[in-house]
Amino acid sequence: MAQPTPLCEVKDIVQDFRRPSGQTLRVLDGVSLTVNEHEVVALLGPSGCGKSTVLRILAGLIPATAGSVSNQGAPLTGRNEDVAMVFQSFALYPWMTARENIEAVLRAQGLSEDKVKERTDQVIKVVGLTGFANSHPREMSGGMKQRIGIARAISVDRKLLFMDEPFSQVDALTAESLRSEVLDLWAPVDRNPSSILMVSHDIKEVVYMADRIVIFGTNPGRIRKIIDNHLPRPRDYRSPEFLQLVDHIHDIITGMELPDAAPLAAATPAGEIEQLPPVIPSEIVGLIEYLEARRGQEDVFRIATDTAREFGEIISVVKAAEVLDLVDTPKRLVVLTAEGRKFAKALAEERRSIWRSCLMSLQIFKTLHAMISRQPTHEIDREIVEETIILAMPHEDYARQFMTIIAWARYGNMLSYDETTEKVSLSEGNGTGNGGSHGSTPAPTVTPSA
Ligand code: ADP
Ligand code: MG
Repeated sequence: MAQPTPLCEVKDIVQDFRRPSGQTLRVLDGVSLTVNEHEVVALLGPSGCGKSTVLRILAGLIPATAGSVSNQGAPLTGRNEDVAMVFQSFALYPWMTARENIEAVLRAQGLSEDKVKERTDQVIKVVGLTGFANSHPREMSGGMKQRIGIARAISVDRKLLFMDEPFSQVDALTAESLRSEVLDLWAPVDRNPSSILMVSHDIKEVVYMADRIVIFGTNPGRIRKIIDNHLPRPRDYRSPEFLQLVDHIHDIITGMELPDAAPLAAATPAGEIEQLPPVIPSEIVGLIEYLEARRGQEDVFRIATDTAREFGEIISVVKAAEVLDLVDTPKRLVVLTAEGRKFAKALAEERRSIWRSCLMSLQIFKTLHAMISRQPTHEIDREIVEETIILAMPHEDYARQFMTIIAWARYGNMLSYDETTEKVSLSEGNGTGNGGSHGSTPAPTVTPSA
């Protein structure tokens, strides 16, 4: 086969963001990726791993902190003029009709009024918007709105089509047909777009669409694995080869995100502080109750489907429950531990005490408990807790970790935090039983739909 012709490329990029607190967060570290002519590349990974950031860097919307970015062999400075974008949020002007939304983009390109009309008519036909040209976005379904988004992107006739979770706001059936329609637009080699770079968290979607599937891991975002997908097109979601590849990718992601050896907490060397997934207790409780209703176990992908949650979010909730030792994750399964089953069956007060003993097996809570106990006033400043977090996890968002720690500790009636004085104190055994904890009665937010 002939050498592929590179279109756009990042090499060894690093991306740091500054938090409002002034702290730096490393979002991408050492990411290299090339999009060649005539291919569909998909970025897959949990939310927050930096997929959209890679897309924005390649589109020239933001500069990378370090590393090189190029387009057609030349270093990229400023916007990448070869890229047209389709957004998850559609990004339409609500006061304009479908037609006007497309025309606005073409006019901004400096096209003559005749050309604007001609191209608009053309793309409206191509994406199946005929009859809806004069409707406003608010009168249209998600699928129709995204047709405008796609029409707008292809109307400008660029080599590269970038799509950031384009079908996640569209119902499943419509998403299926839009995927194949987009591939029909891409297929002719003598016409733009030459290549597609897309972000998705839907494994079936990327197996259907992509020639190359780039799997990201998080904290900071790195490429974990690139999978070449040679399944013949058009692909069949139900063929054994298709399902096999979906399964294979499932296993890679779960193997990566849910190490099935030892629970995360136990894998942390003694004395080291564990990172807590930024999940509120009610979500963990929701997961435990969901599992209890399913005889104590379920496939992690099934959980994501049942709860209509993004896969990355479910992974965080599962990890959080695993850190607490309430679940185990052999392979793709999420299974209640003995402690998890006990928790599921317990009443509110007993749940709190089980929760508290789970917390006390984690280093961060042991450390804080000891630190606070040593104080004559039995309280410490928020700043001191945050310093402890920063020293243990320099890459973490410490403000977010702090709020997670407090939320978990409040639910276990272990620590209290006073927002006005910014002091953290022990709440167990202080006689009030509820130690100033706010909103500590959880309403399960992981609600099974079936
Ligand atoms: P993904 O698309 O994989 O969900 P993103 O690329 O959107 O992830 O974001 C990765 C991380 O970078 C997240 O933690 C997000 O909060 C952070 N981030 C993204 N953009 C900015 C920004 N402009 N300023 C600060 N942090 C950002
Ligand atoms: Mg994103």
